[in-house]
Amino acid sequence: MCRADDIESFRKQWGSRPVAVVGAGVSGLAAARLLLALGAVVRIVDDRLDLQTVVPSGVDFQPLVKESLVDVGLVVLSPGVPRTHPALVEADHEGRLVGEVELASWFIDVPLIGVTGTNGKSTTTALLGHIFQRADRRVFIGGNFGTPLSELALGELRSKAPTVDFAVVELSSYQLESVERLRLWVAVWLNIEPDHLDRYPGFEAYVAAKAQIFQCVAPDGLVVASGMDPVIAHHAEQAAARVRWFRVGEEEAEKDGTMVSIRDAAARRGDEVYLIRGAGLLGEHNYENAAAAIEVGRFVGISSNLLQKALDDYSPLEHRLKLVHVANDVRWFDDSKATNIAAAVRAVKAMDRPTILILGGRDKGGSWTPLVEATGGRVSRVLVIGEASSIIVQAFGSSQSVETAGTLEQAVRRAFELAQPGYAVLLAPACSAFDQFANYVERGDVFIRLARAAGCSQ
Ligand code: ADP
Repeated sequence: MCRADDIESFRKQWGSRPVAVVGAGVSGLAAARLLLALGAVVRIVDDRLDLQTVVPSGVDFQPLVKESLVDVGLVVLSPGVPRTHPALVEADHEGRLVGEVELASWFIDVPLIGVTGTNGKSTTTALLGHIFQRADRRVFIGGNFGTPLSELALGELRSKAPTVDFAVVELSSYQLESVERLRLWVAVWLNIEPDHLDRYPGFEAYVAAKAQIFQCVAPDGLVVASGMDPVIAHHAEQAAARVRWFRVGEEEAEKDGTMVSIRDAAARRGDEVYLIRGAGLLGEHNYENAAAAIEVGRFVGISSNLLQKALDDYSPLEHRLKLVHVANDVRWFDDSKATNIAAAVRAVKAMDRPTILILGGRDKGGSWTPLVEATGGRVSRVLVIGEASSIIVQAFGSSQSVETAGTLEQAVRRAFELAQPGYAVLLAPACSAFDQFANYVERGDVFIRLARAAGCSQ
């Protein structure tokens, strides 16, 4: 359900001219459907002319050039297109450029819970969805992950009553850089590490985009922030809403939040104690995600009992540090989504047995030193694949036992030869998959298939 005056004011402000949607991907198409339902004249613009075949009927398609936007009022931006694109400069200067999430939020009246961070967004969003479902609350999960927020807006537009009680929305920096009036009830910022430096002029610009999340929180809402990162802490302290912190690894009690002790994997929140013992939340990084989710869950009134149950039976998303095969007491872990160095470091640290690490793919820039340091003592062999092989081998130097394996198939075969009972084999590439695979999903699927087949042909 959305308010009639929101629709009316949209029509008044933007209804007299066509509305353009930039990008014909999943978010762009969802925005176009929402705009059609609002009665707008819709045009999709995209550089990829082959995408005109996916455009819904009744929607015009034009290339992404300045001329395609001359007669247009509002311009709705998909996260995949930078707002600095030359065709968009004018619309941006004139205040006519908004992100897809921003547009969708104008027509959603249910409380929004936003989740951002360099890593862990999808996991925490999915965990919160699981917690809400466990507590019999109707919840939408989506945004940057899964279903675009415009789909929820469309559902609300068509329904006479709210379709959900809450919406948990994963927000990327690309989405956050194009929000204005977005109002969040709760905002979670998990961590910040160098990433996407191919799109931002520097780390500061990336941080500034992420920091929008706390600006969006209403004064009666909640900010959930990592107490371990001074940059996040600085921005949390400037938010209008109350702040709850989460930390991992310290023994002292956390009075304004949740503290997880690594020693016993117990999250303490005042008098409440939660055990993070489910197979879905392996590694310290997942303790952080769990601690953040506990704060949100308690804020929205979910009992500690139900929270514990949800933590116990949460199952990890595919390709996020998931145990995918066990044979001869060798455990095979798929963390294909570890596409940056920080995520791979966390995966390596989560291993509690001698580990053979498979990494490589397309280098995204950034220092390899943290991964070289993290592997020391934990990883018995590093098997390197893909385009970035020589950079990685050079970065490791003689400090580790490193081998170039070429393809994932060769690496799995080699890992099978090397792994002894009690070992782990971990795919945590620290690179994107685009040199050898369509994406991280395909890479992870291939790894799982190969791992399960390893040994069968011996
Ligand atoms: P995102 O949606 O932010 O990319 P995901 O939940 O999909 O996050 O996880 C991406 C990668 O980061 C995976 O390799 C996962 O194991 C790892 N990861 C998950 N949570 C965290 C965290 N809190 N800190 C660091 N790495 C994490």
